[in-house]
Amino acid sequence: MATTICPSYSICLTIDLGAIRANYRAIAERIASAECGAVVKADAYGLGAAKVASALLAEGCRTFFVAQLAEAVALQDAIGTGSTIFILNGLDPGCEAMCASRGFIPVLNSLSQIEHWRATARQHGIPLPAALQVDSGMSRLGIDPEIAGTLAADRSFKREISLRLLMTHLACSDEPAHPANAAQLARFQTARSYMPGVPASAANSGGSFLSPDFHFDVVRPGIALFGVPPRPDASVLQPVVRLAARILQIRDVTAGEGVGYGHDYIAREPRRLATLGIGYADGWPRHLSDAGAAWHNGMRLPIAGRISMDSLTIDISALPADAISEGDFVELVGPSQSLEQVAGEAGTIAYEILTRLGRRHQRIYIDRDRTENSASGVSP
Ligand SMILES: *Cc1c(COP(=O)(O)O)cnc(C)c1O
Repeated sequence: MATTICPSYSICLTIDLGAIRANYRAIAERIASAECGAVVKADAYGLGAAKVASALLAEGCRTFFVAQLAEAVALQDAIGTGSTIFILNGLDPGCEAMCASRGFIPVLNSLSQIEHWRATARQHGIPLPAALQVDSGMSRLGIDPEIAGTLAADRSFKREISLRLLMTHLACSDEPAHPANAAQLARFQTARSYMPGVPASAANSGGSFLSPDFHFDVVRPGIALFGVPPRPDASVLQPVVRLAARILQIRDVTAGEGVGYGHDYIAREPRRLATLGIGYADGWPRHLSDAGAAWHNGMRLPIAGRISMDSLTIDISALPADAISEGDFVELVGPSQSLEQVAGEAGTIAYEILTRLGRRHQRIYIDRDRTENSASGVSP
């Protein structure tokens, strides 16, 4: 597949928009009466926010979450003004005017963010929309639940801020039995009691797979849309990405020859090696030196030696001599090797692998549900 559609790149990232849409539908079905939003921060976890959001728009999604103002601007330029865009990190001082004029909804996480947004509203002479984040126990972002009570009692707050969402974030949603989930729920309920009628949101992907108590009015899945189950039993999700890299050179080494920087790998016997055109600058973790593998025709081809910036070397001795040639592609993520497997071997999480891929890749968008098959070059 990859050889025919990737003539000028040595790395292909194939993104199945049909699978993303199917995952959106699967989550929306699980959460029944709640609204399913989509978190497309970090360029949709590295997969291209414009393409991903357009696909979700076609599926009926109208609520998007990004982390930063610049991401909100790029997203709105791509998908137009018909959707609601929340900025999860809130606003840096000085960014309020741009946020207001574009109609974005900042998530106010601290007293100073609240104060700046209120001052902007006073300047505009109209209430400005906002989400308010309550820290229910993750100790990352948000105000204490009791402060929500103080704000609710403050009449000028109500004149200045039109609250669209009361939200919180769960620290342990991927562990359903973790006691922090119930504790966070209770603290969030306290905050909600001060602000009846304001729509609420607590669930990321993991939370969407917890009981309906956690779903409230809007859920905010990210990683699950991209096919990574928040926990192993969330099996309704379909894989979204494939990553393939091209063989630049094939060589035979004799016993005792060192391979790669530092000669970390020394052939104990004659081996056949292939050098791939992907390295840590492409987001392939250097931690996989002498650890991970590529795959071809169901055969595991272990990485030999350290991963370089632009290349890595695999041991292809297990393949018949004519099975593969220079210029061919091998699989790094796909049916033989999931993102979660790669992440496990690299000592990290699939989120980190995904968000780091793609700077020098050709991104190929496919949509199984539709007939179109479009390719586009490296996205900035
Ligand atoms: C990133 C993020 C999400 C999405 O998390 P996933 O685990 O990818 O579903 C939801 N809410 C907030 C506040 C986030 O920062």
